[in-house]
Amino acid sequence: MPAVADILIPLALDTAYSYAVPPGLTLAAGDVVQVPLGPRETVGVVWGVEERASGGNLRPVTGRIEAPPLSEPLRKLVDWLARYTLAPKGSALAMALRLPDEAAQRETSRIGVRASGRPASRPTTARGKVLAVAADGAVRGKSALAKEAGVSLSVVDGLIDDGALEAVALVPEPVALPPDPDHPRVPLSEAQAEAAHELIAPPSPAPAESGGTILLEGVTGSGKTEVYFEAVAECVREGRQALVLMPEIALTAQFLDRFAGRFGVRPATWHSGIGGKRRERIRAGVASGEVRVVVGARSALFLPFAKLGLIVVDEEHESAYKQEDGVHYHARDMAVVRGRFERCPVVLASATPSIESRVNAQSGRYRHVSLPGRFGGRPLPDIKAIDMRLDKPEIGRFLSPPMVNAVKATLAQGEQALLFLNRRGYAPLTLCRACGHRYQCRNCSTWLVEHRFRRALVCHQCGYAQPKPEACTECGAFDHLTPCGPGVERIAEEATALFPDRRIVVLSSDFPGGAERLRQELETVAAGECDLVIGTQLVAKGHNFPHLTLVGVLDADIGLTTGDPRAAERTFQLLQQVTGRAGRGERPGRALVQTYQPDHPVIAALLSGDAERFYEEEIGAREAAGLPPFGRLAALIVSGEEREKAEAHGQALARAADPPPGIMVLGPAEAPLALVRGRWRFRLLVKTERGIDVQSYLRDWLARGPKPRGNLKVAIDVDPQSFL
Ligand code: ADP
Ligand code: ZN
Repeated sequence: MPAVADILIPLALDTAYSYAVPPGLTLAAGDVVQVPLGPRETVGVVWGVEERASGGNLRPVTGRIEAPPLSEPLRKLVDWLARYTLAPKGSALAMALRLPDEAAQRETSRIGVRASGRPASRPTTARGKVLAVAADGAVRGKSALAKEAGVSLSVVDGLIDDGALEAVALVPEPVALPPDPDHPRVPLSEAQAEAAHELIAPPSPAPAESGGTILLEGVTGSGKTEVYFEAVAECVREGRQALVLMPEIALTAQFLDRFAGRFGVRPATWHSGIGGKRRERIRAGVASGEVRVVVGARSALFLPFAKLGLIVVDEEHESAYKQEDGVHYHARDMAVVRGRFERCPVVLASATPSIESRVNAQSGRYRHVSLPGRFGGRPLPDIKAIDMRLDKPEIGRFLSPPMVNAVKATLAQGEQALLFLNRRGYAPLTLCRACGHRYQCRNCSTWLVEHRFRRALVCHQCGYAQPKPEACTECGAFDHLTPCGPGVERIAEEATALFPDRRIVVLSSDFPGGAERLRQELETVAAGECDLVIGTQLVAKGHNFPHLTLVGVLDADIGLTTGDPRAAERTFQLLQQVTGRAGRGERPGRALVQTYQPDHPVIAALLSGDAERFYEEEIGAREAAGLPPFGRLAALIVSGEEREKAEAHGQALARAADPPPGIMVLGPAEAPLALVRGRWRFRLLVKTERGIDVQSYLRDWLARGPKPRGNLKVAIDVDPQSFL
């Protein structure tokens, strides 16, 4: 009987296609193959092979491709991801299957040269220099050799033609050197050693379904990183591989150096900035098992590890782990799933765990390992509120007098201060005082944000930018355009006027010069080479600034009124993280929080320093409201170029919803961001009781309901994190 292979193709298709396996070709599940698809050839992965009598008229598989096969746990992850997110299975596969592009492959066969032992037929001074360098017999790249000899490349080429140098293939350097788990290290404190032991020791009784997941909780500076490094070390000792996931921007040189301090070498890193050839070499090294530890952003979760022994999700509460376009998945949750398929432990680390992980720890689904207090008995920063109703800044200013005095005192002592405002740019709104016109994006329902550095008004949603006009574009009045409200650039202007002799740096994700420059700038802050840092949430995350002793939060209330079910949690986490930046070095730190609502439960919990109180209240509130994790949410986002058609489609979907008991369908409602990139958006929200299979309901509903036509689209977001 002929063999038939089911091939999954990494395109937005939901099912695998059947192909005949030609005689002489043996295929196994996971193999990467080339197959005909319509008039073209494409790449796919074998999802199953069987002997079938009726396979005769199927098109045959073209052949196998030289690429590491997808392991069974990774194939299961793809299946699981597609089922959970309702993404087409092929789209889920695309995340795990990135094939080497040909240019990258060509690059890998680099050529080097070495002395052949034959003399040059026509000796010159330049040639003599090259041969003197090459006399040691080592293989060098052509340009490296020319540079070392101080001659031009043509001299080297001439010697190759002449036969005095011979070309040999360069052996590529290993993509990452092996980390040494027993590299000499600083001793752990007793509490840290105990926590590390709990991470490493096999749990008893044996793990239940998610029993392999551990929540590692400890305030900022308690040494969570040091502790999970021990679990990484143990994993490497056992000859297995470890993956450490981080929110992208936390992947700093500082962290990599810390890793090198513990393991003797830097780890392989994986994020959107790693391109071409290096990307392929890391993938191949991960698949062969040669790369032992990967530190990466969320996409590293889909790397083809040969023998994964541990996954760490650092800052597990971070919303950056949720991918909000294409396949809407949460990398923390998928890490737990991959851990289950790989039968390896998963460590979720955070100073401010998500409510979901906290509840899982309380219910015993996750093990809970806590680190009490900061390392070395350093105190947590003392946090005080500045009531903005009483301590008003001067007109047109944003720093209240107590804040200014505190910064002044800190700088006078030679210490560093951080002013935190979660708003990029100069001003979030520009208004004409003559005609009242407000500058809005032409593609989105957002105000344009003034960026002084770029001299432009910019949309933070779609990136649309226009030069800041001299006169109002509506009424023509000169000198009437007024910035409203502060962004970090405006705070920097105020601070420069207040502290003209101080070194001030503004840090936000739109830092001029891109991610690499930003990383360098973060290093200079850590080294103490600046006095005052003004930054967005970017500075709140994962950085260690040992010279920082004062954190000033400029608008603590910003995130509290968004109508998002996680608004309280997010605000608490962010404020806790950013205030926790203070006093991580030798000197104690403090934080000042400007607020109009000092009695708001979130602000009160922050001031009291009693995180437990916050968790108790918030978990109680979620349970009472049936919100996650005590109930489930899923969103459908209908979008289209015409507002009426998008709304009508949303309404037609709602009419077809027919929810059974335990499920509620709300909407359609115009999305808070009603227009994005020229598309109108309407949201439907599905709210269910806890035990309900929301995916089956959604699948059934969408199969029954109207199909989007023309430019209409329906995006599905299970467990939405953003409600915009
Ligand atoms: P967390 O990840 O919980 O915020 P870190 O692991 O970053 O904490 O530790 C905070 C600081 O304390 C770091 O500068 C770290 O080097 C230092 N530290 C933590 N544990 C130790 C230890 N056992 N010995 C020396 N320094 C430590
Ligand atoms: Zn826009």
